[in-house]
Amino acid sequence: MSQLPYQRFHAATAAFRDEPEWPTPATIGGDQICGCCNRPFDTVEDPGLAIAYRYETAQVALPLCTTCYTPKHGSSRLLGIERAVGKTGRTVAGKLGMLINCGAIITPDNTLYLALSSGYASKFRAGTLVQRGQTITTQRPADLFWQLYARGELANLADGCVVIEPFGRKSLALMGALKATYSLNEVWINSSTPLRFEDRAALLAIADWARQHQQTDAVCTAPFWRPIRDAALGRVDRKRLEQWHAHTPGADDLLARLPPDPYTKTALHQAMQCVLAAVP
Ligand SMILES: [Zn+2]
Repeated sequence: MSQLPYQRFHAATAAFRDEPEWPTPATIGGDQICGCCNRPFDTVEDPGLAIAYRYETAQVALPLCTTCYTPKHGSSRLLGIERAVGKTGRTVAGKLGMLINCGAIITPDNTLYLALSSGYASKFRAGTLVQRGQTITTQRPADLFWQLYARGELANLADGCVVIEPFGRKSLALMGALKATYSLNEVWINSSTPLRFEDRAALLAIADWARQHQQTDAVCTAPFWRPIRDAALGRVDRKRLEQWHAHTPGADDLLARLPPDPYTKTALHQAMQCVLAAVP
């Protein structure tokens, strides 16, 4: 397992651990392993320090490294108030590990950016991350990647960045297998579901094709891609593919630009909406 994505995550989230409510970690033997990322405690970012975490009704608490525990810790200063509890007036601070449908990117210079859904963006508008411009408001987590790409924030991609789409609610599943991205050809998408990669250089190449052939509106619609999507799902309709080929200008060139993995081919219109919104 590569240490780099964990080092990036730890560095980019240091302010969460500076909060006064941050629990005091216990010392733990360096040969013991984190209950989330499985790394020995002498190799984690805060070596030999563990925070006990009990998952819901579990009997035994898991020792977590401070990096894996960070999404579990709320910050009303950095994010905002997640919710008020009943009529007691007690409030629960927002946590990275609760950001359903929101994305995050940690750039090669260890800056944390968040793609917040409109609900969270409004809830967290007074928080430091929103105030400092480290968030965008969108319902599509992939928008964040393309906006940062367009702004040149990912220019040093070869140094490694971390892409999270979406954060979701299961931060142990997310942090258990964090993987860094070093190339546009192989963007590793971390989430609480199994890790997958997307060839985003191919998506840029499709955007170029769309501009050349005045198809920028068409490629953002599902019907345009239906024969490609059906084929990726194993439902090859030769007649429909031939018709699509005949009606699509530069079809062979477009086919040569398609990303290799079937998963991306099933949602190309959504991917192109994100690319073309940021890189028109
Ligand atoms: Zn860990």
